[in-house]
Amino acid sequence: MNIESAIVEGVNILKSKHIKTAKLDTEILMAKAIGEDRKYIILNDNKNLKKESLQYFQRLIKERSTRKPIAYLINKKYFWKSEFFVTRDTLIPRPDTELLIEQILKITNYHNPMNILDVGVGSGCILLSVLKERKNFYGTGIDVSKNCLNICKINAKKLKVDKRVRFYKSDVDKFAQGKYDLIVSNPPYINQNDLKYLEKDVINFEPKLALNGGLDGLSEIRKVIRKSSELIKKNGKFILEIGFDQKIKVSNLLKKKGFYINNVLKDLAKNDRCIVSTKI
Ligand code: GLN
Repeated sequence: MNIESAIVEGVNILKSKHIKTAKLDTEILMAKAIGEDRKYIILNDNKNLKKESLQYFQRLIKERSTRKPIAYLINKKYFWKSEFFVTRDTLIPRPDTELLIEQILKITNYHNPMNILDVGVGSGCILLSVLKERKNFYGTGIDVSKNCLNICKINAKKLKVDKRVRFYKSDVDKFAQGKYDLIVSNPPYINQNDLKYLEKDVINFEPKLALNGGLDGLSEIRKVIRKSSELIKKNGKFILEIGFDQKIKVSNLLKKKGFYINNVLKDLAKNDRCIVSTKI
């Protein structure tokens, strides 16, 4: 079978499962199956497939038809300016989270070196992207998942920032190392009862540990704020990703812990998504 026919078959299978991005997904999976890029697939669609490549491709299509996200099938996701290695241990980096990077770059500059802490570092997409942009910054990432930290280490090497970052396996509650100029976090913030409404791609495959914010969605955010208020330097910046309906509650929690709210920013879908604050 040639590439084109296999792709037509793949697209039909994914369409029958109501996957909206059937064509794109199929091309990405074909590229993965034959170890080439998408451009190659498009330019060489009459080439015959080796038996093993076809079988590998069909297996990937089958997995995608169960709604397993593409990022987990190809073990990578592009975020900000780099490609990150991801597995099912980490949340898949979201375009909305790039908002946090934009804000961090806006409020920092090359001339003032900073020590930054990422609470719940996951794949490392936030911390490592910032370190790549700011060559004189040093980073610390903590996470409760040892597997995430191993992935972070791989990504730190990939992005060539491994000399300026260290990782600790720790719950934020118990972490007491250092004082930071800037703290960033994308904690789990989905209300436990709302988890079931998330898309199947998300809830059936991504780590609940990175999504579940407890009964009111705020249990982890509360912990992160409480501890950050101790770990942050005076005038230090705190950048937090939040749920679309958490702006007021989180602002109040921040104020109670001595933070001044600088800005609340909306994501691509115009939902409140990021709070920038300063410790006073
Ligand atoms: N934005 C993610 C989602 O909607 C949730 C991320 C989080 O809880 N930190 O799936």
